[in-house]
Amino acid sequence: MSSDLYNKLVVYYESVYFSGKHKLEKDLQRIMSEKKCSREEAVKILYREVFGEETRKEQKPRDLEEALAELKEAKKSYSSFVKMSFLVLFVFFALSALSFNFGAALVVWFIALITIVIMGIISKTRTIEWNYSEIMILDVEILDLKEYAERTIVKFQQETLEACKYSLKENSLTVTVTPTTIISKVVTDQYGSRQVSEEVDLGTLTIKADFEKEQGVTKVRLTYSAEVKVEYADYAAAAYEKTIVGFKTALKETAFEMKPKKVVVIDFAKVLEKLKKSGVILKAVKCPVCGAPVKLPEKGDTVKCPYCGSTLKAIDVYKLLSKILNI
Ligand SMILES: [Zn+2]
Repeated sequence: MSSDLYNKLVVYYESVYFSGKHKLEKDLQRIMSEKKCSREEAVKILYREVFGEETRKEQKPRDLEEALAELKEAKKSYSSFVKMSFLVLFVFFALSALSFNFGAALVVWFIALITIVIMGIISKTRTIEWNYSEIMILDVEILDLKEYAERTIVKFQQETLEACKYSLKENSLTVTVTPTTIISKVVTDQYGSRQVSEEVDLGTLTIKADFEKEQGVTKVRLTYSAEVKVEYADYAAAAYEKTIVGFKTALKETAFEMKPKKVVVIDFAKVLEKLKKSGVILKAVKCPVCGAPVKLPEKGDTVKCPYCGSTLKAIDVYKLLSKILNI
C-alpha cells in the first residue's frame, strides 16, 4: 500500500520537477525530521499534501493523458455514428425491397438517405474544443524571463521541428502551433478508385504559460486550448501530446541550463582542512613527474616541485586524496 503511494509520488514529482526523485527524497526527509515519524508515515503525509485525502480520489483532476483520451473519444463517437448510419440505410433498403408497397418504401428510404447525408456533413465539419491546464514547478528561480522564454522557444522548435508563433507579455508566454498531418484515403471518381495522400489541418493548439516566481522555484501554470474538426480528433490528440511534451521538456531543460552552477574552489587550505578533519597528517606528496617529495603549502592552489619545476594543482591533489582516503 505504502509503496503504491510512494510510486504515485515518484510519478508526480518526476513530472513537475527536473530532478523529481531527488526532490521527493528531500521532502520525505524534511517531513520525517519535522514530524519525527517513520518513512512510511512520511510517505502517507506527503501523499495527502499532494493529492488530498485518499477518499477524495474520485475527484482528482484528470491528467493530461486522460484529457487527450477524451479528444480521441470524440472521433470514436463520430465513427460509430457513420457505422450506425450505414446500418440504418441497409435496414431501410431491405425493408423497401421486401415491402409490397415499393413506391412508399422507396420514398421513406430516400428521406432517410438525405437525412443521414446531411447529418453526416454536419458532424464531419463540426469542430470540438479541447482544453486542459496543469502546474509545473521548476526548481530554479528564473530571473530573466525574456531570455528564458526565447531560449525555451528555440529549444522547443529544434526538438519538435514545429513552427510556432509566440508572444511574451509580462509574466505570460503564449505559443500557438498549427499542426498538420498526412493521411491517406481512398478516393473514387470517374477515373476509378485509388489511394491518395492528403495533408489535413489539425486545428490550432495554444499553450499559455504563466510564470510566478517564488523563493528558489518558479511556478508555471500551463493552459492548453485547441479547436479541431471531429473527423481528425484522434490525429490531433497524438499531435498535441507530442507538442505539449516537447514544450514541457524545453521548459525544464532551459531552466536547468540557466540554473546558476555551483562553483567550488579547491585550494591547499581546503585540502589541509579536509585532511585535518579525517585525522590524517600529510607532510608531502610525491611529484608525479620526478617522484620527489613535495611539501604542501598552506595556501594557494598550485605548488611547484622544487626539484623538477613541475606544477602540482591543489584540485589534482584533492582528487587523488579523496580517492585514497575517501574524504
Ligand atoms: Zn618533480
